[in-house]
Amino acid sequence: MRVYVTGNITVDETWSIADIPQKGSSVHGIKVSQDIGGKGANQAIILSRCGIETRLIAATGNDSNGVWIRQQLINEPLSLLPNAYFNQHSDTSIILNSADGDNAIITTTAAADAFSLEEIIPHLADAAVGDILLQQGNFSVEKTHALFQLAKARGMTTVFNPSPVNPDFAHLWPLIDIAVVNESEAEELQPHGVTTLVITQGAAGAWLVSEGQRRFCPAVAAEAVDTTGAGDTFLAVMLASALLRGVAPDTLALTHASRAAAITVGRRGTFSAFPGEQELAALLSTSGE
Ligand code: ATP
Repeated sequence: MRVYVTGNITVDETWSIADIPQKGSSVHGIKVSQDIGGKGANQAIILSRCGIETRLIAATGNDSNGVWIRQQLINEPLSLLPNAYFNQHSDTSIILNSADGDNAIITTTAAADAFSLEEIIPHLADAAVGDILLQQGNFSVEKTHALFQLAKARGMTTVFNPSPVNPDFAHLWPLIDIAVVNESEAEELQPHGVTTLVITQGAAGAWLVSEGQRRFCPAVAAEAVDTTGAGDTFLAVMLASALLRGVAPDTLALTHASRAAAITVGRRGTFSAFPGEQELAALLSTSGE
């Protein structure tokens, strides 16, 4: 059993500035950090650190950031496909943090957009019954739809985390087995007809809706240093916990996910905040007590 993640990979640059710039202004700032990011990459990295065979199918550009991304992933237990650089700049998020705690984010999607369906499909050639296709919201609705259709035709299990949200994703529910949404995505997209629905509620916890029941799993109390990547950690560990035990996502999977997400929120950064392989192995061996 293998998880294929089709999505994006980015370089996340965090800059500290006095205030969010006004039109026409020129301001000084400090570059605070540079990290791997992108929801596809985040989720794939954590799944692979949990011991799940993971293929991340995502585009890197032919610039220095593309080279840097590949260097960062050398020690991760996942395969990044294709092993090539696209004739684009790598996708980047510039996160501007102002002194009063506000932020503004600029994200590029040129590399993810340039990765055509025809180029993606060959990387799913050996995907078979029982494998998983996991997607987020960074591809167009058409591309996301076509890939889920292909996965269903192959007998794969489909997992959708429709973030960033697009109202047209609401048409994709008939193709989805497992949906993971936060409260605002749930409200906008009204997920229905899926076998397993998980609705996360930040520091409160998450709901598991499956087998005709609604069960609540409280979050693990954590001193929130930086909540970026909490949702990605939660989803990946929930899925890994269930897959490793050969079951559908259950309350233990959500408990493992909450414990892992609490580690991520307690540390600064995204990639650099994620739990490591040993932490995840220890956490995944815990019971629900
Ligand atoms: P992201 O900000 O990464 O996009 P999201 O909106 O997808 O996150 P959330 O509902 O904010 O997802 O969080 C997912 C899970 O992470 C929660 O269900 C909870 O278990 C955990 N979590 C989030 N924030 C906190 C927090 N402040 N303290 C402890 N756990 C948290």
